[in-house]
Amino acid sequence: MRLDKLLVELNIGTRSEVKALLKKGLIFVDGQKATKPETKVDENAVVISYQGKEYTYQKFSYYVMNKPKGLITATEDAHDRTVMDLFYEKCPDAPKGLAPVGRLDKDTTGLLLITNDGKLAHELLSPKKHVDKTYFVTLDGQLSAEDIAALEAGVRIGEGDLTAPATVKYEGSNTCYITIHEGKFHQVKRMFFAVGREVLELKRTSFGQLTLDEEDLPIGHINKLKCESFY
Ligand code: URA
Repeated sequence: MRLDKLLVELNIGTRSEVKALLKKGLIFVDGQKATKPETKVDENAVVISYQGKEYTYQKFSYYVMNKPKGLITATEDAHDRTVMDLFYEKCPDAPKGLAPVGRLDKDTTGLLLITNDGKLAHELLSPKKHVDKTYFVTLDGQLSAEDIAALEAGVRIGEGDLTAPATVKYEGSNTCYITIHEGKFHQVKRMFFAVGREVLELKRTSFGQLTLDEEDLPIGHINKLKCESFY
């Protein structure tokens, strides 16, 4: 890869900014000052130093966020603050081009994967792959045994088809966990609506192999993952 392209991918600056940094002799490649943007480097082996910080290239990056309420799950939005606004404020050195995998509603909290690995994102979201998503749900009232049986068997949401079989772990009173493997629009809220209940609070606690550990990842925090976490 060309050195200037690598520097842009590492989020050190724009193409013209990194050219200027190179010209000023501020970039070091494996400890040697580098000045030529067109220099070819092995992006998988090289260590870049700039302003006392070391950068190594990773083709893909993976992060998990414990999404707070009030943010929309999008990369950008003209009106609302997005999860990626929060992400890049907290992780300004992360590579550009990362995006959330799937969508949580504005008022939903919990586990959100953020990556630039499009293939993984596609696999996790593909209906054919049946990737489990578990939510902790706070309702406006109790669930009956019939409600639970209906939610588990599949309920009709809106005018659409029946939802696929789900698992409900009733915690008593007005809370439960529900595990689904589909990703229909507002699915969990609509499933409970179908049995006459309103969802007051919704938190995603797991997504595929990933589980939310709120001690390690308090609300609004972001952790970088190793790719072995889900492959
Ligand atoms: N189902 C919903 O209704 N909302 C979410 O944010 C996620 C799943």
